[in-house]
Amino acid sequence: MAQLIADRRDIDFVLYEQFDAEALCRHANFSDFNRKTFNMIIDEARQLAIKEILPTLAEGDRDGLVFEDGQVRVPECFHRSYKLFVDGEWNALTAEPELGGQGLPCLVAQAVSDYQLGANYAFSLFGFSGVGAGEMIEIFGTEEQKNLFLKKMYTGQWSGTMVLTEPEAGSDVGALVTSARKLPDGTYSITGNKIFITCGEHDLTENIIHPVLARIEGAPAGTRGISLFIVPKKWVNADGSLGEPNDVVCTGIEEKMGIHASPTCSLSFGGKGQCRGLLLGEENRGMKVMFHMMNAARLLVGAIGFTSASAAYLYALNYARERKQGRDLEKTFEADAPQVPIIRHPDVRRMLMWMKAHVDGMRSFIYYGALLLDRIKCSETPEDQAYHQGLLDLLTPVLKAYCTDRGFEVCSEAVQVYGGYGYTREYPVEQLMRDVRIAAIYEGTNGIQAMDLLGRKLGMEKGQVFMNFMGEVSRVIQSARAFEGLSELADKTEQALNRLGETALHLGQTAMSENFRTAFAHATPFQEVMGDVIMAWMLLWRASVAAGSLEKLLAGLDEDARRKKIDTHKGAAFYHGQIQTATYFINSLLPVTQGKMDAIMAADPSVVTMPEAAFGS
Ligand SMILES: Cc1cc2nc3c(=O)[nH]c(=O)nc-3n(C[C@H](O)[C@H](O)[C@H](O)COP(=O)(O)OP(=O)(O)OC[C@H]3O[C@@H](n4cnc5c(N)ncnc54)[C@H](O)[C@@H]3O)c2cc1C
Repeated sequence: MAQLIADRRDIDFVLYEQFDAEALCRHANFSDFNRKTFNMIIDEARQLAIKEILPTLAEGDRDGLVFEDGQVRVPECFHRSYKLFVDGEWNALTAEPELGGQGLPCLVAQAVSDYQLGANYAFSLFGFSGVGAGEMIEIFGTEEQKNLFLKKMYTGQWSGTMVLTEPEAGSDVGALVTSARKLPDGTYSITGNKIFITCGEHDLTENIIHPVLARIEGAPAGTRGISLFIVPKKWVNADGSLGEPNDVVCTGIEEKMGIHASPTCSLSFGGKGQCRGLLLGEENRGMKVMFHMMNAARLLVGAIGFTSASAAYLYALNYARERKQGRDLEKTFEADAPQVPIIRHPDVRRMLMWMKAHVDGMRSFIYYGALLLDRIKCSETPEDQAYHQGLLDLLTPVLKAYCTDRGFEVCSEAVQVYGGYGYTREYPVEQLMRDVRIAAIYEGTNGIQAMDLLGRKLGMEKGQVFMNFMGEVSRVIQSARAFEGLSELADKTEQALNRLGETALHLGQTAMSENFRTAFAHATPFQEVMGDVIMAWMLLWRASVAAGSLEKLLAGLDEDARRKKIDTHKGAAFYHGQIQTATYFINSLLPVTQGKMDAIMAADPSVVTMPEAAFGS
């Protein structure tokens, strides 16, 4: 079976033609890199992913985890791959080199992620958890904490977690009851039970650093009284050596629908009264610190939705080219006509086109998010930095929710393309669909993302950030108008964008009126239509870049020769495909989005006026 993860041609197109990754090298932060080094890194990442990480996907799913005496054993195959991953210094690509990273732009690291997450994201989470927790220490930690923890977490020698959830505190983090008490030596005694902690216990690294949310005794209720503590599985001595085991016990792991190789652990802190932690940041300001990791994790989880979709699409495409069933539509009634590959059937092509449009659109959206991170880092002025940070803050909930919802749907459509075989364990799309389902739930459910978008993000700076977003989309619409063949698509995208603006205004105003419940009942549909308009934006952007390049390839050819070149020349076919994909999305899917926006504007209150008893008995 072909080993498929991501389309390299498309990665290069987005990196270099849509987003001009080379331009980043002009900035002092990235001046050590050039296109050649970027390509070398991506090539090597691809090799590692295909040869070493991808084989662990099915094996890890089959073998699963072993929980015994409070310890978790990961699938045997993970040990070799993790060693190669750490030895190859793949863990913290964007961190500063002196801290154990590579200093790579986030945009290029995203291309690496396409392969690593796409190969087996359950495996990649071990590395990410250390980097994500490490970044909080880098930004909010004391010098001593940075010296003790950072390098080992960034290099992957130690892993990390993020420890928020408790039985009564899921989406409602402020309800947590884990407590902390200051000890005479300045450390804190931590007591409580946490659940659902990814990579909470395992035998892949010699230490695990848990960032734990807890309430210092006497602190205010809710999120205003939460602090964050660094709680190592094994205590770290002042000289950096490992000390006694801390009083952190894994009491069980979950049996899940998917990601069977990712330990989802219940952890007991301080069962013997001996769990010690170090305060990270200030007392009662723990949510501010944790939000740093949560925002990064939301971008990561969005990328998980997308990379799962990318792999599923490529498998489905490959299968559709090979599987022969039925006759060509024009020979339906000729019993002796040969069977054709299913990609010839219009309905299968419809599925593939739907998947491709979303996979392409999501890749551009995810890479755009990464580019914003680079722009924030490279900003010359505080205004410039605030502008890009605002855009990222606005787009983060949409990126997380849209890419995980659509990611799952693309995987489901891939199963459909395979027919009955797709539902069996013989083919990889079944696992991709199971594994990706959690992405819409963790890191803040997609419903919570929609509330964040409506309740906090739309109104940022009195709506100016949303206006900036609209301005960015408008710029692409204007440049698409330069191409005759794209002007109608540009007009339709503009209509959808303007309607999105009206819908946002209307919904935002309703959210502040007595009908606020109705507004929040439409928050998820709004998040979805905003994602759709972003897809149209990204696909139109791709189409305008492709239109310019295609014109150069076809210059001077007559109609017949142009058609022939598109059929036979790989580059011409790729660019033509970009224009076709944008045309399909904007002509066939965007009108549905317009209808959804009409429904949101109509603000039907049935969802909230329905008596609870009427939902059923
Ligand atoms: C495999 C896995 C890995 C995980 N990893 C981690 C981890 O590493 N660290 C960690 O801390 N947690 C982790 N979690 C926990 C995860 O983040 C929570 O499951 C998630 O936040 C939802 O909380 P809950 O399950 O309690 O659902 P609930 O909060 O009970 O939500 C149930 C439903 O109600 C909705 N809902 C709840 N409150 C509201 C509201 N105010 N408004 C509107 N809708 C609402 C939700 O959207 C959801 O649809 C993990 C969970 C799983 C399954």
